[in-house]
Amino acid sequence: MKVLIVGAGLIGVTTAYLLRRRGYEVTVLERREGPARETSFANGGFLCPSASEPWNAPGCWRPLLASLGRSDAAMQLRVATLPRLVGWGTRFLWNSRSKIFQRNAQSNQRLASYSLDAMRSLREQTGIRYGRAAQGFLRIFRDERALRDTIASNERLSSVGISSRVLTSAETIELEPALIHIKDRLVGAIHYPGDETGDAYRFCVALAEHARQAGVEFRFQTEVDSFEVHSGGVTALLGRCDRFVADRYVIAAGSYSTPLLQRVGVSIPVQPVKGYSITYDVPPQAPSLRIAVLDDDWHVVLTPLEGILRVAGTAEFAGYDLTLPAARLRTLFALAQQLSPQLRIESANARSWCGLRPMSVDGVPIIGSTAVRNLLVNTGHGPLGWTMAAGSAHLVADLLAGDSPAIDPTPFALARFARHPTQPG
Ligand SMILES: Cc1cc2nc3c(=O)[nH]c(=O)nc-3n(C[C@H](O)[C@H](O)[C@H](O)COP(=O)(O)OP(=O)(O)OC[C@H]3O[C@@H](n4cnc5c(N)ncnc54)[C@H](O)[C@@H]3O)c2cc1C
Repeated sequence: MKVLIVGAGLIGVTTAYLLRRRGYEVTVLERREGPARETSFANGGFLCPSASEPWNAPGCWRPLLASLGRSDAAMQLRVATLPRLVGWGTRFLWNSRSKIFQRNAQSNQRLASYSLDAMRSLREQTGIRYGRAAQGFLRIFRDERALRDTIASNERLSSVGISSRVLTSAETIELEPALIHIKDRLVGAIHYPGDETGDAYRFCVALAEHARQAGVEFRFQTEVDSFEVHSGGVTALLGRCDRFVADRYVIAAGSYSTPLLQRVGVSIPVQPVKGYSITYDVPPQAPSLRIAVLDDDWHVVLTPLEGILRVAGTAEFAGYDLTLPAARLRTLFALAQQLSPQLRIESANARSWCGLRPMSVDGVPIIGSTAVRNLLVNTGHGPLGWTMAAGSAHLVADLLAGDSPAIDPTPFALARFARHPTQPG
């Protein structure tokens, strides 16, 4: 059976590899010149079941409202995008009600944990290397109440087997001496030892090469414009000059899945949420972080990734805009300096980047069939596409083959949005 996948980011490449392993004839169509050149290029590097709850937590509207007109806010809503976001935004807030949020958080944790296991077997099968570190990460707090709330919500994590350890500020410095400069401001930290970090770009490039050698065809610089449909099924994907035919079609085009699927009459509630990162080269003898750090106040991560240090984060509802405003980057730069001045982070030695997280309205990815018979979707992973890539690819492969998946696929089905007719929008 022939399968065409649109998109060679984390989700498309992982799906291609796993489908090929199951014997499918797989072709990947990617508009860029290689794998992972868009949102999967320079992300925060976290594979983190312990931090996989949706961003629309109860009360998420407060920081969003406070951000209006502020260029240095960690989460920012641009006034110009408000009219376009009204419908999606209302549903985003609707999903932040406590009960719904808890249910969605559980679905994400299940998929994220399954995905981390799937990554282990993928590594064993392929032997690929991508700067993986397995000592977990440190979530640091300056605010007593935020620390207490997180400790309370960690009870849910322990019930699904995710361990965590609360640290005093002295214990935090013992684990990560580079944080000594903010010791007095820290009220404590939580260490999540089961999580991992790794370079998503290196992973995609290595896995794509492995998949290519196993028989997956990658057609780069090939943009899919529209669909040819007959009797309720796709008969071909249409590029500028080409027509691509298969038995099944999987859309894994990140944030661009939404406009692409609209062309075949499939509506998915996914919007781009922009984030930034800065990458510094770390010379072999220079000091670096020992362990990845998540700053809870700023929603920013600092991740050491074999020879580089990545500072990533912030969230901006800014449509498909890919500019790099100096004010946004200054926030990341200032934070990195504040956390670790001895790392001598020089802006001259920095590479800045932004990407568009494909954010679903409930913060849970959309995986599986659509109303078009042979068309599947694998997107909407928001800030968790690296964490969930391998598990999501397994789900797609199981659903496509008609096998029973290892985890319940219902919470991830596109049909969930049709099942809640009372939902606004
Ligand atoms: C700042 C930042 C930090 C992040 N940190 C983390 C983290 O620490 N951990 C984590 O788990 N996740 C993180 N994420 C999220 C993660 O990076 C994304 O969820 C993930 O990259 C999405 O992968 P994707 O394959 O769906 O999309 P993409 O990587 O964007 O891939 C989609 C591909 O489809 C191609 N495409 C689109 N339209 C077409 C078309 N019409 N024809 C052909 N090709 C097309 C694009 O060129 C692109 O290559 C972060 C994101 C950002 C922005």
